[in-house]
Amino acid sequence: MAEAAEGQERLNRITHLIADSMGTEVCSIYLLRDADTLELCATQGLAEEAVHVTRMRVGEGLVGRVARNARPFNTTNAPTEKGFRYMPETGEEAFSSFLGVPIQRLGERLGVLVVQSKDDRGYSEDEVYALEVVAMVLAEMTELGAFVGEGAALSARHTQQVMLRGTTGQEGAAMGHVWLHEPRVVVTKPVADDPDAERTRLQEAVAQLRTDIDQMLTHVVKGDKEQAEVLEAYRMFARSRGWLRRMEEDIALGLSAEAAVEKEQSSARARMETVPDAYLRERLHDLDDLSNRLLRQLTGQGTDTGAELPDDPVLVARNIGPAELLDYGRKLRGVVLEEGSVGSHAAIVARALAIPLVIHANRITTEALNGDPILVDGDQGIVHLRPEDTVASAFLDKLAMQAEAQERYASIRDKPAQSLCGTVVNLHMNAGLMADLPSLPSSGAEGVGLFRTELQFLTRAQVPRRGELAALYSKVMDAAQGKRVAFRTLDIGSDKVLPYMKPQDEPNPALGWRAIRVGLDKPGVMRMQLQALIRAANGRPLSVMFPFIAQFDEFTRARDHLMREMDREAALGHVLPETLEVGAMLETPSLAFAPRHFFELADFISIGGNDLKQFFFAADRENERVRRRYDTLNVSFLTFLEQIVHRCGDTGTDLSFCGEDAGRPVEALCFAAMGLRTLSMRPASIGPVKSLLRRVDLREVRAVITEARNVGAQSVRGDVMDWLKRQV
Ligand code: PEP
Ligand code: MG
Repeated sequence: MAEAAEGQERLNRITHLIADSMGTEVCSIYLLRDADTLELCATQGLAEEAVHVTRMRVGEGLVGRVARNARPFNTTNAPTEKGFRYMPETGEEAFSSFLGVPIQRLGERLGVLVVQSKDDRGYSEDEVYALEVVAMVLAEMTELGAFVGEGAALSARHTQQVMLRGTTGQEGAAMGHVWLHEPRVVVTKPVADDPDAERTRLQEAVAQLRTDIDQMLTHVVKGDKEQAEVLEAYRMFARSRGWLRRMEEDIALGLSAEAAVEKEQSSARARMETVPDAYLRERLHDLDDLSNRLLRQLTGQGTDTGAELPDDPVLVARNIGPAELLDYGRKLRGVVLEEGSVGSHAAIVARALAIPLVIHANRITTEALNGDPILVDGDQGIVHLRPEDTVASAFLDKLAMQAEAQERYASIRDKPAQSLCGTVVNLHMNAGLMADLPSLPSSGAEGVGLFRTELQFLTRAQVPRRGELAALYSKVMDAAQGKRVAFRTLDIGSDKVLPYMKPQDEPNPALGWRAIRVGLDKPGVMRMQLQALIRAANGRPLSVMFPFIAQFDEFTRARDHLMREMDREAALGHVLPETLEVGAMLETPSLAFAPRHFFELADFISIGGNDLKQFFFAADRENERVRRRYDTLNVSFLTFLEQIVHRCGDTGTDLSFCGEDAGRPVEALCFAAMGLRTLSMRPASIGPVKSLLRRVDLREVRAVITEARNVGAQSVRGDVMDWLKRQV
């Protein structure tokens, strides 16, 4: 196999060699042409005219079945097997015994290797195993582009364009080059001549790995249960006799030590895709991580490959923690993750940094190589890897249009969001990091309508100290230069789990112990945070809002804590804020029906539309299946918002909306038409929202909504869009 030859020639020779040494009439190699078509690429024993002609879909026939199931299939009577497909051009009907093994690498399907014979000889366990090892080497060679060349219908892996469909984590478009958070190890030597030497190399590397893990375990921060658990799982695998034995057997069959490790890793990845149990999947991930460590030791390739961060890096990773993402900071053009979730900490940070993010991009870490050109379409949740020119130029057009629009927005930056009827809507921005504050002047925002304080807590290994927080909040106020910043107290629980907080085993965390519920039950951290805010204000005005208030008494109790801290700080001689505004986030429908007294007591109310919508429609914001099912412009939801506007109007309570929907121009327009006068959104949305608001008459929008409601529309979106097309 290692001999130099042209691609097709090499494939032919391999089939010949296998058929010969196994004493079987047929050996064929089928390789994947695209995501679901297999093509006969070389054969010994089947009709030669069928090569590059016979094709089948993954799942079709016995060959397709091996590819789909990623498992060997061995039978003595192929024509009687369910799913057998007769392909006349190959002359196949004469063969009885069939053994097919998948050609796969790291869970990635590449093809199928098949042997057949006329009699019903059956293939032994040893033969199955040996063929699997050969398939592994074939996979390795396919990967290295060994079969590209004259006559071969394939081009090398990792040179083709790939489009991956994931999920939007953060909107926006980005173009750049791949930067792998954990660069993959490249095995360049799949076969070896000296099994004894390879076995020794493997054993030494495993011994070193075991020592490393033991050492890491002694350094685990006391009480860090999660880290200790992961390392224990590593230790268990590293000491597993079965794991080592399987790799030694592969070496005996001619694989190099690193290829043997990778073969184990491949089958773990193939299993990973089929295991429904989350716990087991996690363990398989552990095994995967461990194999990577071992590969690095054997090949000497560290995580630092010497590659340089490109000028326009798009980070590609299986998953990434918020602190690591913050380390990269604004250098990144985009982020693509294989896992992750909309509410994960990394997603929150990406959102705060306004970096386009696509999550659930299956297989991106296997497909992408460092430096590959990549396009990230955060709006659609799509990634184009190594795009063809036509795709790239269409994407460039999109970016140019966005840049043009941004320029247009810059020209209205200092103008008010005043509609043609004279109504002014106040546009504020959402923030959560010090790094967000420079956007305050550049976006034209009038203030920070929501400062998510949990980011400082989520990105650290332990609870931040009061002094640290006070310094940070003070810097935020300095940067805001007198503009209002509404600090939301710690909003944790549900999807936001602090690394150092004991995870709660709750049947339904979104409805569980979260936000103000935690703050009131365990007030220590909230009180510390309130003290930090008072000290940070140091005589300046202060706005504080409490998250997830579901009933009146939660607000009064939280407010009492704040007032007590004010007294305490005064007694300690600290300067009190010049003015103090205390608000509540309306994120559960119940609060909209609170007694009038609540509306009188609250200085302001901010609608947390992300949560409010999930509870209004009973549709989990984290659940892909349902989260887009109900339109924000649904008549029931708009009517509900209108009622909140009226209740606040009755008591003169300031009202704003700070969920993600406020930053979507059509939604923002409808909210304004329903009477909302303050909207808070990510900075990049202020331009588009303002631009649209300035071009319409809100009374007319209102009339369109009323008309749609009267005729019984479910959502007003269609009518509003039609009207907009006629107007703008
Ligand atoms: C909301 O729920 O709309 C909100 C702004 O809070 P978060 O998204 O942080 O839960
Ligand atoms: Mg919320």
